[in-house]
Amino acid sequence: MSLEKTRQHYDIAVLGAGPAGSSAALQAAKLGRSVCLIDRNAKVGSPVRCGEGIGYHSFIRHAGNRLDWTLNRIRQSIMVSPSGIKVTIGNIDESYILDREAMDSGLAAEAAQAGADLVLSTPIVAVKRTAGGTYECRSPERTFDAACVIIADGVESRLARSLGWNTALSLGDVESCAFCRVTSPLIDQDACVFFTGSTVAPGGYAWIFPRGKGDANVGLGIIGTQSGPGKARECLERFIDRELPGARVREKHCGGVPVGKWVRPLVRDGAMLAGDAARQVNSISGAGIHYSLYAGNLAGTIAAGSFSANGSIDYNKLRRYEAEWKKTYGKQQDRSYSLKEFVMKTDDAFLDRVASSLAKEPPDRLNYLRVFMRTFAGRPLLLLKAMKLFG
Ligand SMILES: Cc1cc2nc3c(=O)[nH]c(=O)nc-3n(C[C@H](O)[C@H](O)[C@H](O)COP(=O)(O)OP(=O)(O)OC[C@H]3O[C@@H](n4cnc5c(N)ncnc54)[C@H](O)[C@@H]3O)c2cc1C
Repeated sequence: MSLEKTRQHYDIAVLGAGPAGSSAALQAAKLGRSVCLIDRNAKVGSPVRCGEGIGYHSFIRHAGNRLDWTLNRIRQSIMVSPSGIKVTIGNIDESYILDREAMDSGLAAEAAQAGADLVLSTPIVAVKRTAGGTYECRSPERTFDAACVIIADGVESRLARSLGWNTALSLGDVESCAFCRVTSPLIDQDACVFFTGSTVAPGGYAWIFPRGKGDANVGLGIIGTQSGPGKARECLERFIDRELPGARVREKHCGGVPVGKWVRPLVRDGAMLAGDAARQVNSISGAGIHYSLYAGNLAGTIAAGSFSANGSIDYNKLRRYEAEWKKTYGKQQDRSYSLKEFVMKTDDAFLDRVASSLAKEPPDRLNYLRVFMRTFAGRPLLLLKAMKLFG
């Protein structure tokens, strides 16, 4: 192969074609920059490593009217406490269970249609800033040069380390997850069900998210400090035997969810971090899809707008990405981190007490804010943070 074919030059290289990377590439390509969107996998969006749940407002805000990316509409949540007290939360905006395969592959295809080069089966092994200030992104067979690099390689966040970021997660800031697809007539197709408790999922929760037609994503996350080799998988098997006996179980996977603080800074020179790679995830719920869609979109838009007519890039303009992120979701994530810190110190008896008082309320009056108010009752600072989360 000639050198020309193995070395290509772009304005912007986006590393990772998850929701963050594809949104970034889509925006940057739409704004006229030359963009490559690179993923190590042969197929975007597969295998799915996600519960696929997203709130209605988050979906509409970040995905617009692409309802073909959704599988099921959910109208209530059920929380099950450690001793089995059920709290039905009926006063919620509906939420969706997504088809992540359709969403991720759809977003990458939109980026390609907008002009980005979609490069698959290409693991980037290192990113280096050259003496000339450009970024060299190397895979075993090809090298991509770019004035700006957007790193969106997910929870592992290895590529950021090549550029000096410390993205290592402490055990208290990562959930170790096991999850699978399950078919069972016992699945309530209208509700997302969450289970807490030190025997179900220490420091985390188990979930059943119905995908329709008897199917569900079932999984659980255990906080790193209480996890160990094979523990999440064992807990999941026990959980399914107990809650969904006789279910057909397939596509078992393990994975991590970062539940720490978002990485600071988000921009170094011409390099930007987005999505799980930047730890842009809700620390309490572990939800990151909407943050990734937003962050990718923002990073791509700001990167594209930071080039001057002669093709040079202004690093000062790139830094607007961090300021905008902080304003829109960063502060919210900081609040959810403080709330998570408190919840981590509670025990099963506390969760049972909260559940037993909430269970007395009519489901149609219960919403998430009320649940949070009850959880943080008597702790004014945390109450304020909880209220701001919903404000
Ligand atoms: C078990 C589980 C359940 C979850 N459930 C939910 C949920 O219900 N709702 C919710 O909102 N969030 C959920 N999340 C979180 C959500 O999945 C993530 O926040 C979201 O996928 C992050 O998007 P991203 O684009 O940053 O990263 P990813 O979606 O992880 O995409 C990263 C991409 O980078 C590619 N890549 C990695 N390294 C390289 C490399 N070296 N070279 C090239 N390509 C590379 C990968 O192949 C991948 O395609 C869940 C996560 C897990 C693990």
